[in-house]
Amino acid sequence: MSTNAPDQTGETTGNRLPTAAVEDYTKAIYSLTGWGSETASTNDLAGKLGVKAGSVSAMIKKLDEAGLVERVPYHGVRLTAEGTRVAMTVLRRHRLLELFLAEVLDVPWDRVHDEAEILEHALSEDLTDLISTKLGDPAFDPHGDPIPDRDLEIDETETAALAELAPGDTARFARVSDANPEMLAYLSECGIAVGDKLELTERQPFDGPITVRIGGTRHVLGLTLAQAMRVDHTG
Ligand SMILES: [Zn+2]
Repeated sequence: MSTNAPDQTGETTGNRLPTAAVEDYTKAIYSLTGWGSETASTNDLAGKLGVKAGSVSAMIKKLDEAGLVERVPYHGVRLTAEGTRVAMTVLRRHRLLELFLAEVLDVPWDRVHDEAEILEHALSEDLTDLISTKLGDPAFDPHGDPIPDRDLEIDETETAALAELAPGDTARFARVSDANPEMLAYLSECGIAVGDKLELTERQPFDGPITVRIGGTRHVLGLTLAQAMRVDHTG
């Protein structure tokens, strides 16, 4: 049975199992360091987790003592191999849950993240693997984020922001952050989905909106959205 069940004490030391808070921290550090910079600062983590910098510092000390992070003086923290394993375990649960909710229960893609945030800490390893099998061992969640496999390997292929394309460039809409439900709902309203092939046809100067063509439809997208939408060039 599961070796992932969270305990209720909020503490982690030595061989103790990860708590929900530990899982959230490793996941946040992975997301901050996996998308570019090498270390996560206390302020970035505080912003991401919605907690005070003092709380982050106290938790980082515990994570360090538990061997899950290493501190880089004046820069922040990065995950150790064991910390990465914890992050991959919870990311696997989170992303499989999102896909399960979307595909099996028809939960809209802008709502699956909040549900998965809660359920991810309760799912046993056995149930996680059953969900994966049921879904055909999928490689991506509804937002295009890669799902770690049973060996906790993850396929992080490189993507660029849609906003970085030049007029005439074609690409595939590969991935979008799941953290902003309004943005996801808006994309749905526009009929834009992960996997769509697109061409950037026009961009306004001075950080103005961009125009893309998807199928036969033209969409004018604001810069914030065009920066959140990640594309790859397989299209
Ligand atoms: Zn999510």
